[in-house]
Amino acid sequence: MKKLLLIPGILFFLCFSLFAGNEPAYRYYVDLDKVENDRLQVELIAPPIKSGSVAFYMPKIVPGTYTVYDFGRFVSDLKAFDQQGNAMQVERKDVNTWIIKDARRLHRLTYLVDDSDDDPGANQVFGMAGTNFEAGENITINTFGFFGYFDGMEFLPFEVTIDHPEEFYGSTALRDLDDASTRDLFRADDYHHLADSPMMYCRPDTVTIQVANAEVLVSVHSPKPDMNAKLLADAFEPLLLATRDFLGGRLPVDRYAFILYFRDPAKGITNGTGALEHSHSSFYYLPYFNPQAALPILKDIAAHEFFHILTPLNIHSKEIHYFDFNNPKMSRHLWLYEGVTEYFAGQVQAGAGLITFEHYLKKLEGKLADSQNNYQDELAFTKMSRKVLDKYPEQFGNVYQKGALIGMALDIELRRLSGGKYGLIDLMQDLSKKYGKDEPFRDKKLFDEIAALTFPEIKNFFKTYVGGDKPLPYEEIFRHIGVSYTPPQEVMEFTLGNVSLDFDQESSRLRVVDVSQTNAFGKALGYQAGDVILALNGQKVPSSGIQKFFNEAKAGMQEGQPFQVAVLRNDGNGGHKEIILSAPAQKTPKMTPPSLKALENPTGEQLKLRRAWLGERA
Ligand SMILES: [Zn+2]
Repeated sequence: MKKLLLIPGILFFLCFSLFAGNEPAYRYYVDLDKVENDRLQVELIAPPIKSGSVAFYMPKIVPGTYTVYDFGRFVSDLKAFDQQGNAMQVERKDVNTWIIKDARRLHRLTYLVDDSDDDPGANQVFGMAGTNFEAGENITINTFGFFGYFDGMEFLPFEVTIDHPEEFYGSTALRDLDDASTRDLFRADDYHHLADSPMMYCRPDTVTIQVANAEVLVSVHSPKPDMNAKLLADAFEPLLLATRDFLGGRLPVDRYAFILYFRDPAKGITNGTGALEHSHSSFYYLPYFNPQAALPILKDIAAHEFFHILTPLNIHSKEIHYFDFNNPKMSRHLWLYEGVTEYFAGQVQAGAGLITFEHYLKKLEGKLADSQNNYQDELAFTKMSRKVLDKYPEQFGNVYQKGALIGMALDIELRRLSGGKYGLIDLMQDLSKKYGKDEPFRDKKLFDEIAALTFPEIKNFFKTYVGGDKPLPYEEIFRHIGVSYTPPQEVMEFTLGNVSLDFDQESSRLRVVDVSQTNAFGKALGYQAGDVILALNGQKVPSSGIQKFFNEAKAGMQEGQPFQVAVLRNDGNGGHKEIILSAPAQKTPKMTPPSLKALENPTGEQLKLRRAWLGERA
């Protein structure tokens, strides 16, 4: 689906677009000054249509979201006209489809688009895939939520003209071909290219940085000035330089845009937040919070989105290349598109020393725990990918956890088999040379292709751990790089009963809010929801340092010795009474999370492989 021409130099790009005879077939027009009732009117001069009737589609789903959103539901009042301005017959076939009869006469379509941002419905569009109209403030155009296409005609070129308030600037990876200060003109090779190019209009806060061969735009809309383009460009630059080095000194794009919308929490944040990748840009819809606290998270997300320029842009299967916006087929390789991307986002930071090795192991520990606790570790990843829309939507989040760990395991395995010389990044470069943006691979053949490019043993790795249902052999994988892996273990430990507590800021008191998860000891004590915890074994609960106080209480427990909890309980007559809960202290079983630790005395071989894995080419 990512059919963007990669042509060096602005001039050549302009010449090519304007004079190569690639005349736009679709001509769209929107006036952003005219937001009415939270709606905008879209006008389309249609391409010539040769069939008797034609279907006009809005997308049911768009690349990268892996969720059915039905963008047609935000479109209303669609009208069709012939050259003379006579209204034509239109029938709405389903939420995303309009049938226009006698379509050879069709000249013009008009319709209204509502934004998805304040949609109260059940299937809310995540903000980074949505549209948002705040007149005078911000207009976010995720193009697939605005513009549609005719059946069988999605590969024709598009032109979009946008009139906008003078004080607004449109941030997008597309080039503005109109000099006027209140009009932008964009061209896209086809619908895939247009849908791949989000736009954000607002008062400009932008910084452009040059990273190797690429011009990188950082554009920010924030409710507070301390979150701004300068701050983020400074934060992203080391990351982009590290990515450039990781990719061998060049970036595979000449132009890239980070477009970030920070939501004022006072306006309410009802829909999902995050970021969505595109070939030449990424769009972020995030709650505003303290920039210093937000920066590490923003860097992680930006690193992830930026790495998508490798895959799926330059390496993808037919399912992605010919992405069907209204009847999508899913590829079996989410481990590649999302998993490897997520893995590289961490790897590049660790390799360049932007985070310490210990910090990196902590991040990997988090992925180990999440993938094992919250997802089906024994579900073949290929199977999950193919059926992610209908059968396994709740497993999708594992692409960022186990998907990344598959990338890591594959990387270490390639390094081991090649004596440190060849890693996953080399494989990705080889695959992008062999395929690239215009040449999709066959979904079923990828594992054979990779084995042929690398080592025959790799076929077995894929068959067992990616196409098969066997959990990854973490102990062995980490041993190769001198890191010990301790799987989750059952341990017996003292607890306070495993009740859920909340802290009342005003009274500085802890209250039991939920007893459904209490363990045997908690049940023996007999907590009730609403109990206020006053003292443990006669020691009053302090107003600060509560965790330390709890730890000391647990450390002082002895098996079988009475343990007392003083609580204030509702007496049923509008008052409270203090009562003492008491039970013999007992240990209860608990699973420890999986953990990683760098060996204190790794062998020379382990150390060599670890260095090669981290990209230290000694
Ligand atoms: Zn991603």
